[in-house]
Amino acid sequence: MTIELADVSVTSPGRNFVTLKIVTSDGVVGWGDATLNGRELSVASYLRDHVASTLIGRDEDRIEDTWQYLYRGPYWRRGPVTMAAIAAVDMALWDIKAKKAGVPLYQLLGGASRDGIRAYCHASGTDYAALRDAITGYVEQGFTAVRVQTGVPGLGQIYGVASNAPGARYDYEPAKRAADGGAATAPVEEVWDTAKYRAHMPGVFESIRHDFGAELRILHDGHHRLSPIEAAGFAKDIEPYRLFWLEDCTPGEDQSALRLVRQHSTTPLAIGEVFNTVYDYQTLITERLIDFVRSAVTHTGGITAMRKLLDFAAIYGIRSGIHGPTDISPVGMAAALHLDLAIHNFGIQEYMPHSATTLDVFRTSYTFDRGFLHPGETPGLGVELDEEAAASFAYTAAYLPVNRLTDGTVHDW
Ligand SMILES: [Mg+2]
Repeated sequence: MTIELADVSVTSPGRNFVTLKIVTSDGVVGWGDATLNGRELSVASYLRDHVASTLIGRDEDRIEDTWQYLYRGPYWRRGPVTMAAIAAVDMALWDIKAKKAGVPLYQLLGGASRDGIRAYCHASGTDYAALRDAITGYVEQGFTAVRVQTGVPGLGQIYGVASNAPGARYDYEPAKRAADGGAATAPVEEVWDTAKYRAHMPGVFESIRHDFGAELRILHDGHHRLSPIEAAGFAKDIEPYRLFWLEDCTPGEDQSALRLVRQHSTTPLAIGEVFNTVYDYQTLITERLIDFVRSAVTHTGGITAMRKLLDFAAIYGIRSGIHGPTDISPVGMAAALHLDLAIHNFGIQEYMPHSATTLDVFRTSYTFDRGFLHPGETPGLGVELDEEAAASFAYTAAYLPVNRLTDGTVHDW
């Protein structure tokens, strides 16, 4: 059989998603996620204008060949737009292959290596009391691992911290529309001060250990804001609180910067959510400068490329921590869960539950129970887009924030 249709949809059930639908000549439908937060239409165009027509008539079973055709074929390679487009095609073809075989995708990846997938959630609060309430709520739901982000005295709204309004901490969305809910015309701007952050955070971790004990897995995201020497000092300062990981302590593209951090602390390090190929990790993995790979399946060329990246990491004892915020669609989330279940070097899975509005449009089969996820037993990825429901949510521009230092300098975020 061959590919008969490749169609791209951009829908916004609560937030924007780019979804690729591939249909075979015998009517099997596969879905792929191509969502790139704040740059959605560029990937939709890449797929519609440059990829879709090249797929028609191809053998849908030749997944590796199609991946190489899309990566090596156009000459221009890598980058988040290209790799998200390739990821969507790859996911859809794996979805089709598993549906044709009548098995959940993880069975084609070697079968289950564990019974459930340990998930971590996002707890935040503008102050410690609100953060403690959020952590308590998640622990009561059964989470054994919590990413903690909190406001810093003297700074306003910062990335990763929801307001203290009831329910808000469970619906945190960093990509902002305009204040009236319409299309954003520019990102909001936030203000950052590393000295204030470094002075505040060790006390927060001390309080969490005091209030929640020694066993809770504590994760924290530095979001690329520290210089290498600042990150080395910070990782050393928080060593007594034994974090599960410190994420993105420095801007990710400067791989050798992590050498300095490694020389000064044993705080485990995670990085990679802005990476899109295995080459972004070459130094980090071969020199064992990180402990966890943070890439999203959606931004790293799909299941085919992510499996190779994680197998490469496994040789060096480095584990997975696949990116899973709400800007990964339920299709991309399902792809992560099938990989998580199958690989040996699984570490942990990020889990920000999608809103009820999103889940009315994407029908999922994966489950969450007492801190653990499972992709389910539905053949394929186990997610279907309700195209009729999706059509009623038009694309609405929303952007991730920009970060500036207190003197106005644009800063990493
Ligand atoms: Mg992150």
